[in-house]
Amino acid sequence: MSTPRVEINLGKIAHNGSALRELYDARGIQICAVTKAVCGDARIAEVLVKCGIRTLADSRMANIRRMRDAGIEAQFLLLRTPFISQAEAVVMFADVSLNSDLSVIEKLSEFALKQHVRHQIILMVELGDLREGLMPLDLLGTVERVIELEGVQLVGIGANLACFGGIEPDQGKMGELSSLAQDIEDGFGLVLTYVSGGNSGNYSWFLSTPDVGKINHLRLGESIYLGCEPLHRQPIPGLFTDAFKLVAEVIESKIKPSLPYGQVSQNSSGHVPSFHDLGEIRRVILGIGLQDVLVSGLTPRAKVDILGASSDHIIMNTHQREYVAGDEVAFDLNYGALISAMASPYVEKLVM
Ligand SMILES: *Cc1c(COP(=O)(O)O)cnc(C)c1O
Repeated sequence: MSTPRVEINLGKIAHNGSALRELYDARGIQICAVTKAVCGDARIAEVLVKCGIRTLADSRMANIRRMRDAGIEAQFLLLRTPFISQAEAVVMFADVSLNSDLSVIEKLSEFALKQHVRHQIILMVELGDLREGLMPLDLLGTVERVIELEGVQLVGIGANLACFGGIEPDQGKMGELSSLAQDIEDGFGLVLTYVSGGNSGNYSWFLSTPDVGKINHLRLGESIYLGCEPLHRQPIPGLFTDAFKLVAEVIESKIKPSLPYGQVSQNSSGHVPSFHDLGEIRRVILGIGLQDVLVSGLTPRAKVDILGASSDHIIMNTHQREYVAGDEVAFDLNYGALISAMASPYVEKLVM
């Protein structure tokens, strides 16, 4: 088997997907599976659909097209506000998109009319995390414009928290989204199919809230793949946290000093490093580096320490453990490490 590689346990992903679908479903919340972290890998997408998840969501058109081309049968939701320059493809390949800009929606409407399709729109509302979304005061005015446009259909509103600003999707925020949904339904006499409360970060809110209000949809990536909630990175009971494993290969293993020697200046990352003198240690070099994966997001499964990395190498202190060239070393990945490894052309993806 070649290295570096990510080993993907489809059975564990399926278990997590089904468990989360049932958990949220029990209180009337439908989930969609977010595939961007796995670059729309068709083998994973297929498993998610088999879990009973009917909508696959991705931030990138290339991933949506990859899944469609692979014949995956699902509804496809574009998570990132569509690019005006891609509006034609968005209408062609995505069924639904999250939107926050009227000029973009107008473009989608224009192309939907040309293609004789109806593109579904979920309007995103800013609730304080300060990434995408209309300010709540602008929401009703925008709804008024969107429902006048032909070719598009307003099917819901949504919010995204715990992403840029680290703001929790708590009872107050979800209550605000519910009441905005109510305002729209009352004010315009329509029914919103989706009130999409957020992402994996909504887990703690869901567990603690006495009433989910009008929230009936969530978009889940991290909790399906890594089995944890992203606010405190605690494992979710009953889920696998090890569905993905990164494997790299030892290319050098020697007893050497722990302190670099000579005149000190900048290293390859542009800063002057400092080290503790631990005397002589076993230094093991792996054939994987910053160009392959976000090294800071890796946790070795064995009791060894990562000392640092350059573009093509990870350097470890393996303490008492002896390694020889050709040995394999396994790591758990956090979300940042997962997305970087899955996107790296240098890392093989092995499904098992
Ligand atoms: C990435 C993304 C998600 C999924 O987030 P997770 O924390 O992985 O569950 C949901 N919604 C939007 C808009 C996203 O960009």
